[in-house]
Amino acid sequence: MHELATEPSSRPDALTYPFPAPPALGEAVEVATGVYWLRMPLPMTALNHINVWALRDGDGWTLVDTGMNTSETAAGWQGALATTLAGRPVRRLICTHMHPDHIGMAGWLTRQHHCRLWTTRLEYITCRMLVADTGREAPADAVNFYRDAGWDDAALEHYKARFGGFGKAVYALPDSYRRVVDGEELDIGGRSWRAVVGRGHSPEHLCLYCAQLKVLISGDQVLPRITSNVSVFPTEPDADPLTEWLASLATIRERVRDDVLVLPSHNEPFRGLHARLEKLIHGHEERLTMLQRELATPQRAIDVFSVLFRRRIGTDALSMATGEALAHLNCLITRGFAVREEDAAGIAWYRRANQSTAAGKIA
Ligand SMILES: [Zn+2]
Repeated sequence: MHELATEPSSRPDALTYPFPAPPALGEAVEVATGVYWLRMPLPMTALNHINVWALRDGDGWTLVDTGMNTSETAAGWQGALATTLAGRPVRRLICTHMHPDHIGMAGWLTRQHHCRLWTTRLEYITCRMLVADTGREAPADAVNFYRDAGWDDAALEHYKARFGGFGKAVYALPDSYRRVVDGEELDIGGRSWRAVVGRGHSPEHLCLYCAQLKVLISGDQVLPRITSNVSVFPTEPDADPLTEWLASLATIRERVRDDVLVLPSHNEPFRGLHARLEKLIHGHEERLTMLQRELATPQRAIDVFSVLFRRRIGTDALSMATGEALAHLNCLITRGFAVREEDAAGIAWYRRANQSTAAGKIA
């Protein structure tokens, strides 16, 4: 559930990074009054860390995000809570969204500290659904979804063999939670943090905005150096997450001031929120235009990777790349710029819509 492409750092942008050195494992750095930055390791080479946050909350802590279910993460939390976080109790855990690097240790932390998990309803429910797939065989709907996108038999076998991996990276989820809704004001340590929900990367992604501290905990909704994964998944083949993603970025620009310190889940805290949002929107729009041009000749989802990604896509990244390609293709369909047609074998081919029919197309 991670991001496919780190953007080349040579591209100029307007972002600044006031805290360039990340905290060591088990340590915490105060980045705003009562807001501490911790880092947990991830067992992936492309993206080897996640940022998590501890907010002073009365005599204890509200934690935001957890790291993946690994012994290294457990050691990181134990070290931090015993030392830098000064042995204060954990009162509450908030998760921005349901990906294993964010929610993977929620069950472990809430049980150890007898506290509640707070998140949005769709993140909680979707996580339980995905965890429940662990141990099942890959369903025919999912295999057909990737076959229709153009995968060969070897890729499909690899997918079947790895199906259900999600649950292995998540410690047994808490069996109950506290729902957070968009716009809700959470009192954390006497300060108000507003819930700002975004869509497209995950179903109901929770950002937290404290206007008083001028801080936005952005999760994976806004990352400074990485383009977040926006994918279509086999459970909802006709979904259009990219339209939702672009709308969410525009909404954040309206609802959150530009002068905040942004605390992202990956890379470093930064300033320059609005410039970053504009660049992310512009990057997707540029790719949509290039993709539309490419569809002058009919293409399968797997044929358009070179338009969308700067690197070669190997087996490890195939499902993510396919999901992202389909997200862009479905967005073009919504806009009336592309059509999807199946050949006799059921493989989906995408081509540019005729200008005369484009106006009448709907999602
Ligand atoms: Zn994520």
